Amino acid sequence: MLPLTSCAALGGSVCGGWGLVAVCGSVIMSIVPKRIAIIGSTGSIGVSALDVVEHLGPEFRAVALSAHSQADKLIEQMRRHRPAAVAICDPGHAAAVKHAAEPLGIQVYVGPEGLQQMVQRPDIDTVLAAIVGAAGLPVVFAAVRAGKTICLANKESLVVAGALLIPEAKRRGVPILPVDSEHSAIFQALQCGRSHEVKRIILTASGGPFRNAPRHEIENATVADALAHPTWQMGSKITIDSATMFNKGLELIEACWLFNLPPSKVQIVVHPESVIHSMVEYVDGSVVAQLSPPDMRTPIQYALTYPDRLPGISRTIDWSQTFGLNFFPPDFERFPALRIAQEVAEQGGTSGAVMNAANETAVTAFLAGRISFGGIARAVEHTIRAHTVQPHPSLDDLFEADRWARNMAEEFVSQTAATAAAAS
Ligand code: NAD
Ligand code: MG
Repeated sequence: MLPLTSCAALGGSVCGGWGLVAVCGSVIMSIVPKRIAIIGSTGSIGVSALDVVEHLGPEFRAVALSAHSQADKLIEQMRRHRPAAVAICDPGHAAAVKHAAEPLGIQVYVGPEGLQQMVQRPDIDTVLAAIVGAAGLPVVFAAVRAGKTICLANKESLVVAGALLIPEAKRRGVPILPVDSEHSAIFQALQCGRSHEVKRIILTASGGPFRNAPRHEIENATVADALAHPTWQMGSKITIDSATMFNKGLELIEACWLFNLPPSKVQIVVHPESVIHSMVEYVDGSVVAQLSPPDMRTPIQYALTYPDRLPGISRTIDWSQTFGLNFFPPDFERFPALRIAQEVAEQGGTSGAVMNAANETAVTAFLAGRISFGGIARAVEHTIRAHTVQPHPSLDDLFEADRWARNMAEEFVSQTAATAAAAS
C-alpha cells in the first residue's frame, strides 16, 4: 500500500489523466486485488498471468478463465488452477469444456455474451484483459460497467473506443492499470512528478525483426521472418504488429488515452535491447525510466499487485556484466505504420476503430499467405483514405466502423491477391 504522501504525488502526476484518476481512487480505497478473471487465459499474456498468480501465492486467485477455441488448453488450466468459472467463446467447443468442468464444480459460460456475463460475477475483483484484438472490447466494457478493476493488455480496446471507455471508467471510479510493458513503465515513471511537469513521454520500441532491413526485404518478408521477434515471445498478431511497427502505433494511441496526453507529447524511440520499457521526461530535463529484462511477467505482476510491490518471478538485470543500451530515431519511410498511427491519433473519432480493424484483417491475410508483408500497411492506408471520420461516435457507430473497415480491407486484400495471381 502506498502511503498517502505517495498517493498525493500520484494524484499530482496522473489525476489529471482520464484512466488514472480512477487509479488514485483505488489507492485511497486500498483494495489489493486477489480474485482475478484472466480473459484470454490460453494466450501468451494469459499463460504468463497464470504463472504470476501461482507465484504470488494463495492471496491471489484466478477465479475465472476464458478462451476462444483452445478447449484442451483451457481444460488443462481449469484442472490446475481450479477457477470458479470459465468461458469458452466458440460454442463448438462448449460440450468438451462442460464435460470436463462438471465433475470439478466449475461453472461454464458460452459465447461472447457468456463471457460478458462471467466477468460481472460478484466473486471477481479484477479483470485481466488479455484477449487479442477488438474482440476484447465488449467484455472490457462489461467489466468496467460492473465496477471491476481492469488490468489492460488488450490495447486494441483503447485504440477503438478510448473516447468512451476512459470516461466510463472515470465515472464509475474503475481503475484501468496498464499491462503493456511500455505503459507500465510510463505509469511507474509518472509517479515521480505531477502532470503539468511532464514534458513528454518517450515510448521505446525494439524495432522488431526488420529494424535494419532495407525496404525491398521488408516488402517481401516471409511469415517466418516476420514472426522471428528478436526480444519478445508473444502471440502471432502482436508479433506481426511489432514487425510492421503498427504495435508501436497502437501503443501511441493507448498512451494518449491512458495518460491523457496529446500525440505531440509522445516520442517514439527505437531501443533494440528492450530493457528500458519507456521513459518520462520532465520539464526540468530529468528523464525517469523503468528497466527490466524483456519478460511480460514483470508488468503483469505490477498491475496485479499495485499499489504494492512483491518479489518478482522474472530474472533480473545482471549489473556485474558489461552491457550497452542503444537508441535510434524511428524510420517513418520503411515503417509507414508509424506515420499512419500518428495521423489517426490526431484525428480521433472513428479513425482508431478503422485503422485497427483494417490492420487485424490485413495481418490475418498476411499470416494466411494472401498478401505480402508490405501489403499490410497499404491495406490499412487504403481503408483509412476511403473512410469519412465521424468525430463523436457512439459504441454502435464504432462497431459499425469496425465492420465497414474489415470489409473494405478484405476487398483490398482480395483485389491485391487476384492481381498478384494474374501477374505470376
Ligand atoms: P494470443 O494470441 O497469444 O492470445 C489471445 C487470447 O485471446 C487467447 O486466449 C485466445 O483464446 C483469446 N481470443 C482470441 N480471439 C478471441 C475472441 N474472438 N473472443 C474471445 N477470446 C479470444 O495474444 P497475446 O499475445 O497474449 O496478446 C493478448 C493481448 O495483449 C493483445 O491485445 C496484445 O496486443 C496485448 N499484449 C501482448 C503482449 C505479449 O507479450 N504477448 C505484450 C503487450 C500487450
Ligand atoms: Mg508493448
